[in-house]
This record gives sequence, structure tokens and C-alpha cells, in this order.
Amino acid sequence: MISLSDVTKIYPGGVTALAGVSLDIGAGELVALAGPSGSGKSTMLNVLGTLDRPTTGSVRIDGYEVGGLGDARLSALRATRIGFVFQQFHLAARVTALDNVADGLLYSGLRPGERRRRAAAALERVGLGHRMDHEPHELSGGERQRVAVARAVAGDPPLLLADEPTGNLDSASGAGVMELMRDLHAGGTTVVIITHDREIAESLPRRVRMRDGRVTFDNARPEATVPEVGR
Ligand code: ADP
Ligand code: MG
Repeated sequence: MISLSDVTKIYPGGVTALAGVSLDIGAGELVALAGPSGSGKSTMLNVLGTLDRPTTGSVRIDGYEVGGLGDARLSALRATRIGFVFQQFHLAARVTALDNVADGLLYSGLRPGERRRRAAAALERVGLGHRMDHEPHELSGGERQRVAVARAVAGDPPLLLADEPTGNLDSASGAGVMELMRDLHAGGTTVVIITHDREIAESLPRRVRMRDGRVTFDNARPEATVPEVGR
């Protein structure tokens, strides 16, 4: 599903956020990506999600070499194959849950009626069938994040990327969102979750840790483990 080979990312200004990352994630995996703040996790997720291009190295997503695609084809790849969930929900204010989710399908090529039908189905799937007409300010944090998950998966993408999806939630709501992630994984979606929460990370089958822009631990590749200095 995902193959990164010797990927670096150097931001304008000279910060090296990824210092040579190679990582393979197979279809159907459920992966925790952990590591201290500033270790390159979000950069890695953005590169995995084709939101950002690497400075050097190769990124293959679902069989496509990202470096070989122009911006239009890359947007199409993203719109049809990748769903995103962020810590800050990123819902539009004063827009109902139904329309927030339906608007996520704007670039799918589907007609408005079909977009709304799929949005309603996605909200049912996350247990919010009774909240479709509510605006974000009328929803709890946990419900907002479930709307964001519904938006991410309404188009049935094979890959779901989440950047600290439980970071702004109390533990009960966070557990609800994690249960949703597990359900999606059980349904065949490949899921990669950045988390600071050790308990969440430890509960997932594949665990990757980063530090200083490198992978320092990967339970699927013990030989790639780098001893952590000072521990
Ligand atoms: P994490 O998600 O693990 O906290 P990030 O990927 O956000 O780490 O950041 C990795 C490094 O890259 C940090 O030093 C951060 O300051 C830097 N960085 C992140 N985004 C940008 C950007 N858009 N421009 C410049 N530097 C950035
Ligand atoms: Mg981050």
C-alpha cells in the first residue's frame, strides 16, 4: 500500500524533518506512529498522504510513484484513495454535520444527491445518524471528531491517515474514536495513526517510532531498530 525509500524532507530554511526514512506498510495494516514532538511524524504523514512532496527519495502509494505524478493527478489520487483525520477536527463552522461530510466528496465526481446519501451513510457508520443536522458548535469534541472520521471515510478510501486524532479528546471520547479506527481496519482499510498516547500505541499491532527524522523502532523490522541514546 505504502512504500517509502530513503525519503528526506528539508523545509525551506533548512530544517531537516525527515533524514532518510524507508518504510513499507502493507494493505490492511493498522499502524501506530509514535515519537517525541518535532521528530518528524506529521511531516511523514503529510508525505505518506501526498500533501507534501519529499525533497529526495521515493514514495509509492497504492502502486503509484508519487514523484512521477503532476499536481492534478496527485490530487485525484488523494481524493479517491486517502482519508485524513487531524487533531483539530477541521470542520467548517455553521455547516451541518451532513454537509461537512458531503463537502468532503466535492472532488469525487459524484452528484450532490449521491454525495449527501454517502455522507448520511458515513455518519450512520460512526454512530451519528441522529446528529446529521447539528452544526459543530452543537456537538461534543468526541462527536466532532467522529464527524471528521465520517468525512475521511465517506468515499471509502483504502488508506486512512490520522494525526493525533485523540489528542484533543477526553479519554472516553478518545477510546470511542479508536474503536472506530479499529472497525475501519477490520473492514479492510489500511490505517496509520500518529499518537502520543503510549497505551494506544502499545495496543496496535504495528508500532513505528521516530526520532530526529529517522525510524528508530519498527516491530515489523527488528533489524531497523536504532538504540536510543541516553536510555
Ligand atoms: P512532529 O509531528 O513529530 O512533532 P513535525 O513533522 O511537525 O514533527 O516537525 C519536524 C521538524 O520539522 C520540526 O523541527 C519542525 O519544527 C519542522 N517543521 C515542520 N513543519 C515545518 C514547515 N512547514 N516549515 C519549516 N519547518 C517545519
Ligand atoms: Mg505533529
